Amino acid sequence: MTARPDPFPVCALCRKPSVTQPAAASSPLPVADLDTRGSPRFSQYRLSYCDSCGYCAYRLDRGGRLESQWVASKPYRGQLHDPSFPGLANRYLCMDMIAQAQQQWSSSFWSCVQAAWVCDDQGEAVRARDCRLWALNRMGQAQAAGEAITSQPGSDVLLRLDLLRRSQRFSQAIRLLERYGHTVSEPMLERILAYQSQLIRQRNDRRHNLADMERWERAVAQ
Ligand SMILES: [Zn+2]
Repeated sequence: MTARPDPFPVCALCRKPSVTQPAAASSPLPVADLDTRGSPRFSQYRLSYCDSCGYCAYRLDRGGRLESQWVASKPYRGQLHDPSFPGLANRYLCMDMIAQAQQQWSSSFWSCVQAAWVCDDQGEAVRARDCRLWALNRMGQAQAAGEAITSQPGSDVLLRLDLLRRSQRFSQAIRLLERYGHTVSEPMLERILAYQSQLIRQRNDRRHNLADMERWERAVAQ
């Protein structure tokens, strides 16, 4: 991800000023979700959209030939106007397309995750699941390229577990727990892992946050 863009910049591809207010997939929340939704850092990343050419980026004032080719491409135009996704989710998925072409897997991953949040808010459960499965694919690509999604050891495992759980891939989540659960060693992450494990074993695919985890811990301790 890049720094917060200026509002209404001139598009680097078509040289026309944007008129659409940049939008974020999520506002800061008092308590973050298990997939980090609500962390203040996400509100810094507001997606800009060029009304003239359809370019979707954190920074509309940056981009060149590769971005121009993608924005003009059939797959990009199809995604941008796909009626089966919410409009903002389409824009994140267009950004994912360009990030994939540049093999920027972390950026691609977060674009898919943010598209999933937009789908969650619009009640588009099937589409939210699609976006999470794409995010898991991008995480796999990142790992193959030796790129970590997060800077904290163990966090990638927790993120993957939450994506699998929210996508109802419970068997895969249990296999991941058995194989990599021991690699999560930081105390806070261990607490999240314990909570996530019981959600997975209950086949719970709903959205949960750290306050839910603390309530569960208190109930277990009684
Ligand atoms: Zn443009």
